[in-house]
Amino acid sequence: EAVVNRIAAGEVIQRPASALKELLENSLDAGATSIGITVKDGGVKLIQIVDNGHGIRYEDLPLLCERHTTSKLREFEDLETISTLGFRGEALASITFVAHLSVTTMTEGQAHGYKATYKDGQMEGDARPCAAVKGTQITVENLFYNVAARRKAFKNLSEEYGRILDVVSRYAVHKTGVSFSCKKHGDSRADVHTVGSSSRTDTIRAVYGPGVARELIAISASEDDPSGTTFKMDGLISSANYSSKRSIMVLFINDRLVECGALRKAIELVYATILPKASKPFIYMSINLPPEHVDVNVHPTKREVSFLNQESLVDIIQQAVEAKLLESNN
Ligand code: ADP
Ligand code: MG
Repeated sequence: EAVVNRIAAGEVIQRPASALKELLENSLDAGATSIGITVKDGGVKLIQIVDNGHGIRYEDLPLLCERHTTSKLREFEDLETISTLGFRGEALASITFVAHLSVTTMTEGQAHGYKATYKDGQMEGDARPCAAVKGTQITVENLFYNVAARRKAFKNLSEEYGRILDVVSRYAVHKTGVSFSCKKHGDSRADVHTVGSSSRTDTIRAVYGPGVARELIAISASEDDPSGTTFKMDGLISSANYSSKRSIMVLFINDRLVECGALRKAIELVYATILPKASKPFIYMSINLPPEHVDVNVHPTKREVSFLNQESLVDIIQQAVEAKLLESNN
């Protein structure tokens, strides 16, 4: 059974950056407005995340890392919430099957916090009282300590760190109300550092550099149906005067970081056609769709998505991008 769990865990947690993404999403789900991340050896040795969210109640700690505990921990008034990409209830469980995980947490109005450690889906011993501030700190150490083949696959630790920075950067651009920092253990300077009160353009400048942020244009599109708006897109896209070596697409659907190859290709095609010199664009897009229209099971890591009426929505977005580019280059 342990082996089966470990293999299943490896599907959810493929590399340090996928563990980090799950932890980050949990912090955001907890309403954090400040999230600090510390990483050692590309995340293989250590990923530590500190947030100022609502914390975890003492009585919830024993079940925290059991699989599919979501419904046990919270009561959802809205069942649809569960179908959003975040609520699957197996991320922390999965991490405990392939790494050492410990949690320090404190909820509002408590005199002290609690610390608990987990292994193979179970809390080890009891949660112990400790000094803390409101929020949660989760420490993940020695990722894949028990999966030698997987551990050996991560030779280039700076590349793994780069993937972590990439995830943090993208969430920072999307969640402009949240302050993010990400640094290597022992460094005083953060490699990603954003301030929650900044505009999105300023955040993009802080994360991706002044070149990208200089020429951004706002874009939006939506489609109504008789039951109300079913599709809404807002974004910032680079204009003609910007060119870079690689294109960057920061895509969020229903507040979750995803990839959509079909959409990316469609947008890149518009740039290549209208603005061959700016054919490596920067694109930030936030799309909202009814959760039941999003299919996240295209890829095991759940980054690649497809959605209902994809062709027509991609068309709408493509036309919006085309119109904006033509307008701004006249
Ligand atoms: P899911 O997010 O799908 O519910 P996870 O395994 O990622 O499953 O997390 C399990 C639960 O642990 C969450 O539902 C939440 O109640 C709690 N939790 C995890 N991280 C945090 C955090 N940083 N702050 C508050 N609660 C958390
Ligand atoms: Mg989660």
